Amino acid sequence: MFASVPKINSRTRIYGVFGYPVAHSASPAMQGAAFACRGLNCVYLPFLVKPADLKKATAALAPLGIAGVNVTIPHKEKIIPFLDELSPEAERIGAVNTVAVRQGKLIGYNTDAGGFLNSLAEDLGFSPGGSAVFLLGAGGAARAVAFALARAGAGAVYISDLVSGKARRLTTAVKRRFRRRRLEAVPVEPEAMAEKIAGCQLLVNATPAGMRPADKAPVPEELLRPDLAVYDLVYNPALTRLVQAARERGARAAGGQGMLVHQGAIAFQLWTGKPAPLKVMRKALERHLRGIR
Ligand code: NAP
Repeated sequence: MFASVPKINSRTRIYGVFGYPVAHSASPAMQGAAFACRGLNCVYLPFLVKPADLKKATAALAPLGIAGVNVTIPHKEKIIPFLDELSPEAERIGAVNTVAVRQGKLIGYNTDAGGFLNSLAEDLGFSPGGSAVFLLGAGGAARAVAFALARAGAGAVYISDLVSGKARRLTTAVKRRFRRRRLEAVPVEPEAMAEKIAGCQLLVNATPAGMRPADKAPVPEELLRPDLAVYDLVYNPALTRLVQAARERGARAAGGQGMLVHQGAIAFQLWTGKPAPLKVMRKALERHLRGIR
């Protein structure tokens, strides 16, 4: 335990995560392990930033010499007006989960989108080009997923959210940037969902359904089939009922741990310019999740 405490001196680079709450965040464990593995003189701290303090906390990053932060709930959208620049991806998605401080300037990135695509490729061997995707949820995480899928060339993305206005707004926002893609909001009704899912090759759950042990799969299980790959963003528990049910029916299915690792890996690379030690980060995440279960 004590062997992993980094030596701190005047050259130590400080990173962290802004969240409220923040105690649950796996990022300190993952990034801390990655810095140690690469032998970097860096520390990574959780910062409990109240919504009312976000502007002041963000303005303090450069003067305090903090090199970068991740940004989590509820700050991903609210932090944007306090930054100097956005990557094209963060600008499109309208949410920032990583800030890099360069020559005193605050640059916002969204690594959730790339993290999702990398995990989709690594964990499911799935490439969205030309495929039809059914996306459950139209909240913050679904936004990153919908833009990532459109950018990766998905032919059609059907979006279903309990709040139908949210699904419609997300389809409109993606369509505005990716005119050639087919985007459609689908009501959360068994028949409407069944009709669309029948023509899809990938189903993505970007709702919190599955986080509690008693949660059922967020779609009727009979809609799952061997040729419908399933990606569940829920990462705790590692095996949701949706992932289990899809596997029972012979489909490829993965939970969201890979996305969490890959979004962190992209942030690590943006900050340090070095490739992230993915295996080490995945192990640190697993250890962290075992500790909070
Ligand atoms: P969010 O902003 O609350 O959005 C979730 C949306 O899904 C809400 O609009 C919600 O509607 C809707 N919804 C809930 N149950 C539904 C159902 N059964 N069918 C259709 N829509 C439903 O949450 P979020 O921040 O996007 O996060 C969503 C999930 O993704 C969480 O489990 C989170 O932990 C996970 N996540 C994972 C990663 C990763 O790296 N693996 C990254 C980000 C998020 P109501 O508001 O009416 O409930």
